Amino acid sequence: MSPVASPESVRRHNLSLLLRLLHQSGAMSRSDIGTALGMTRSTIGELVADLGARGLVLAGDRVRLGSPGRPSLVVRPNPEGAVAVTADISVNSLSAAVVGLGGRILHLDRVAHRPRRLAFEQTVEDILELIKSAQASIPAHSWIAGLGIALPAVVRRADGLVHFAPNLGWRDVRLGELVADRVGSGLPVLIANDADLGAVAEHTWGAGVGASHLIYVSSDVGVGGGLVIDGRPLVGAAGCAGEVGHVQVNPMGVRCRCGAIGCWETEIGGPALLRRAGSAEKGYQPEAVARLLREAAWGDPVALPAVEEVGRWLGVGLGGLINVFNPQRVVLGGYLSTMWPLVEHIVQAELRVRVMAPALETVEIRPAQLGAEATLQGAAELALTRLLDDPTLAPAVEGRSAYAFVRGAQEPKAQPTPQAASQTGPGPRVLTERRAG
Ligand SMILES: [Zn+2]
Repeated sequence: MSPVASPESVRRHNLSLLLRLLHQSGAMSRSDIGTALGMTRSTIGELVADLGARGLVLAGDRVRLGSPGRPSLVVRPNPEGAVAVTADISVNSLSAAVVGLGGRILHLDRVAHRPRRLAFEQTVEDILELIKSAQASIPAHSWIAGLGIALPAVVRRADGLVHFAPNLGWRDVRLGELVADRVGSGLPVLIANDADLGAVAEHTWGAGVGASHLIYVSSDVGVGGGLVIDGRPLVGAAGCAGEVGHVQVNPMGVRCRCGAIGCWETEIGGPALLRRAGSAEKGYQPEAVARLLREAAWGDPVALPAVEEVGRWLGVGLGGLINVFNPQRVVLGGYLSTMWPLVEHIVQAELRVRVMAPALETVEIRPAQLGAEATLQGAAELALTRLLDDPTLAPAVEGRSAYAFVRGAQEPKAQPTPQAASQTGPGPRVLTERRAG
């Protein structure tokens, strides 16, 4: 901010700091907010009142903190105050969701791809149908930030052009323009790589919280990656940074869907695991991978060596990435999160012979926490960014206040009950889900 910033821009900046803090951390007492932002009690009170009038936060439930004194009012993000519509186009399924402030999933539809409908035009029809029903579920009083779409592809973020989606078989398709035309109503449409968005979600609410330098690697059909450097997602000059699945690890390996030989994806992707176990599955079946991991956990003489071999290649690839990026944390998503306990000792052994000591000492590897919804939540983060940067985009309603929503907000209470704590706690919660047969 410039030293001559106007009072309005200072206020907007402070509103942004407060809304972002609550969006990431969930419910907080006003005194903890004051400590986190270095602001006075009265400044926090004014900012909460402003965000409350815009419907973006709720206040209530006083909590008595460790020290004696007045109980402090708890403030939390209002999930229905501002929402994003999000969609996830993956090789096996299509999903659409409504995600509110705080990453709360308010509506979720996930359906298997209809048989032989992976072609671009058909997929767009199918995903638009899901998006329409997601939009219909949004409460009338919610402010809609935009539509965020995730897919396993190299995407130009400026206009949502999909350069290349090897596992969907798409090349140079104008997904962003087409969806924006069909959805209409001037809603911003933002499109990004699914693993980049998974990284953002895990960094904001999951296994990556608190890590300024993070590598996220997710494996299902393909292998995707996302990087957070100095607290910010690494996008790259052409928007396709983080394509770790296509780093060559094995020059003597097999041909990848991208055309190259021995990409990391051909060694640690789901199909590679099935191939090593001699599975006769045609194509990629998530259920077959889950079954194989269960068999390996029991010590099955075919499944276990296949999993261990994938673990070795996981260590080979991670070693290179850790040497280049020196992350604090590596988060493993997709089937790698389930596989991690079986291969941790193998991966660590590979890292010990590959990674420079200071980098090895700093890094911690954790399975992802958010599950299959991470990409939908990351897509929401993409769409909500403009509001988080400038909360005044959401209009204030005269007479509305953060306190009006909560019964008994004026009544000091002791510690919140476990039930109340679970309702107001940070992190996403799935409210509805439908799975089509
Ligand atoms: Zn490749």
